[in-house]
Amino acid sequence: CGIVAIVGDRPAAQRLFDGLKRLEYRGYDSAGICTVHDGELDRRRAEGKLENLGRELTAHPLPGEIGIAHTRWATHGAPTVGNAHPHIVGPVALVHNGIIENFKPLRDELIAEGRHFNSETDSEVVAHLVAREVERGAGPEEAVASVLPRLIGAFAIAFLFRDHPDLVIGARMGAPLTVGYGEGENYLGSDALALAPLTQRIAYLDEGDWVVAKREGVQIFDRENRPVSREIVTSGATS
Ligand code: GLU
Repeated sequence: CGIVAIVGDRPAAQRLFDGLKRLEYRGYDSAGICTVHDGELDRRRAEGKLENLGRELTAHPLPGEIGIAHTRWATHGAPTVGNAHPHIVGPVALVHNGIIENFKPLRDELIAEGRHFNSETDSEVVAHLVAREVERGAGPEEAVASVLPRLIGAFAIAFLFRDHPDLVIGARMGAPLTVGYGEGENYLGSDALALAPLTQRIAYLDEGDWVVAKREGVQIFDRENRPVSREIVTSGATS
């Protein structure tokens, strides 16, 4: 299971797919990619081998220069297309590795408000929680910062926002997430290997960190929402 994200100025889908290939060694049962283009969140997902997602992308090319990608190792919900990430709820798309242990009370709360779930995953509650904040008028950073303290469990997450096609937000707690620094582009990935064809300049997030990645720069925050800097190292991972 793994995550790749690109905030770029060149087409992203094939490069996200290449990143997922480099995370295959972790194991997975389904995969998917979401980009934002023409004011919409657009995704392709497939069960089984990455080749299946590759065929889907060939048959139905996915435009866009900014996107999030995922290989899933199912913990909650069967390894079907419908449970594959990215999950889209209104203006928010998300990919998640790990487990949201308190997803059930959160889901009950959201269902009681009339919200409808499209998957059996624990992950979808997080997309709903952030979408609810955005729909109430919060900006992406504010929405994510208010939801993260409610999550119990292990996660690496990347969020994409329909109405903010200039940023990806990542967060980590108990699952790895790295930031990759490029030229006019920036990246997130489960490890340096996933990002090696894109950049060798990597920062490892600390537990509880979250990050706003834009084309022109990256801002990392700690769990108290204080801006922090994490050392940028040369990964040495070969592309
Ligand atoms: N718990 C999530 C799911 O079952 C994420 C699994 C993973 O780490 O890929 O969809």
